[in-house]
Amino acid sequence: MVSRVIPVEDFDLVIFGGTGDLARRKILPGLFRRFISEQMPGEARIIGAARSDLDSDGYRKMIRDAIAEFGGDEKENKDCLERFLAQLDYVPIDAKGEGGWKELAGLMREGRVHAFYFSVAPSLFGDLAERLHKHGLAHADSRIVVEKPFGRDLASAQELNDTLAQHFDESQIYRIDHYLGKETVQNLMAVRFGNVLFEPLWNNHYVDHIQITVAETVGVGGRGAYYDRSGAMRDMVQNHLMQLLCLIAMEPPSRFEADAVRDEKLKVIRALEPVPPHHIVRGQYDATADTASYRDDAEDPKSHTESFIALRTEISNWRWAGVPFYLRTGKRLKARASEIAVVFKDLGHSIFEGDTARHRNILLIRLQPNEGIDLQVTIKEPGPGGMRLVDVPLDLTFADALGEESEAIPDAYERLIMDVIRGNQTLFMRGDEVEAAWRWTDPIIDGWKQRGDVPKTYTTGSAGPEDALMLLHRDERRWLDIRG
Ligand code: NAP
Repeated sequence: MVSRVIPVEDFDLVIFGGTGDLARRKILPGLFRRFISEQMPGEARIIGAARSDLDSDGYRKMIRDAIAEFGGDEKENKDCLERFLAQLDYVPIDAKGEGGWKELAGLMREGRVHAFYFSVAPSLFGDLAERLHKHGLAHADSRIVVEKPFGRDLASAQELNDTLAQHFDESQIYRIDHYLGKETVQNLMAVRFGNVLFEPLWNNHYVDHIQITVAETVGVGGRGAYYDRSGAMRDMVQNHLMQLLCLIAMEPPSRFEADAVRDEKLKVIRALEPVPPHHIVRGQYDATADTASYRDDAEDPKSHTESFIALRTEISNWRWAGVPFYLRTGKRLKARASEIAVVFKDLGHSIFEGDTARHRNILLIRLQPNEGIDLQVTIKEPGPGGMRLVDVPLDLTFADALGEESEAIPDAYERLIMDVIRGNQTLFMRGDEVEAAWRWTDPIIDGWKQRGDVPKTYTTGSAGPEDALMLLHRDERRWLDIRG
């Protein structure tokens, strides 16, 4: 069931790379869901653009097949599907060529939002921005949406920002990090800033440490050659984990508005401590009887790229001084799970005689699976036998708490695209945030190169290399179990 929502204003959305994997798997099925929920107006148009020699009918057929494959339950809604497909067009365009632009300009209608989604390789962003400008499509009401990766280091990110800035104002540029579109990520802000309960405890007086984990069970598979030029630090830490860290650590913004939120996130990134080599563990998964090793997948038997990373960092400000933030992410781990754990300090003194266990309050924010939040609290074990204490979770799984409503939770991409149309940049990264993140990341990666660091091998299906466990053991702490 998809609940009815307030429609956005009319728009023309051009998807450059409209024939690609992301468009077929996420963007178009997501837009179809918004169409079913009547958020996408009947006058809106979606125009696919890529080099493939298709006409609009050919493109509609391609998207019909994509929705059949990736559309979930909604694909059964045949009547809606026909009406949705009727709102699609296609124009063959090579980002580096001059053909097709006039036709595209002819399809765009005046007096409505014009959004251009760059779902192509970043090397084409400059060509697209330039040609949009040249053909009169870069005007005050146009917006561009750009996909990750946004640069591979500070220099390339700055170059990309400069290129886009030649034709678009920062207020027109939407840098997508789909983690920010997740329901729980926004709930993190609601929990922090909408309740009196947590904010007074959200500091180094009460928080012992914070863990952020993004674990995957898949390997790099067919993307091996691409991934090998990136690695977990560039692919995950610099963007997704960094954004989660910002939302956990930022000061309350004065208003829930794009620049107020992004200013606070930027301050966090700027206050991040450099990470010394002994606070980082890198790994590569090994082979099993059924699966290839990282180096086999990467097609480079000597690859030094990491498929796993764990690190410890700190934030130098009054709120967080002395509180470690432990980040880890990797492929081929024991379960697929993304979560943030805020681990509170031990009680200074226990009044319960004989209770020697270490009880800790932990606020666990689960991004996947089972999006939700739980708070571990200590209570009395039921029954006779005195004051025996036990730790139990107060579980707020959204699907349980909200029932049918939770089925209407939009996927990250749908939500973010609707935000683009509404002109709301709160959940998008600003150029200076991206650059600040690279400024912190670059010296870490450069250090590996200079020292010739080689990642440790870890067992597929494990929690990563042993050294990652040691990173916390040294601090007399331990990682929470990775549970799917
Ligand atoms: P893809 O499957 O390789 O698709 C690339 C698209 O770009 C195709 O539609 C291709 O169509 C088009 N294209 C290539 N060269 C072009 C040119 N010169 N002019 C116009 N169009 C051109 O890639 P993808 O996986 O969809 O990824 C697209 C972007 O999203 C990339 O930047 C990627 O890093 C990012 N991204 C993807 C995912 C994902 O899940 N797939 C996730 C996060 C970020 P033609 O060959 O017909 O031109």
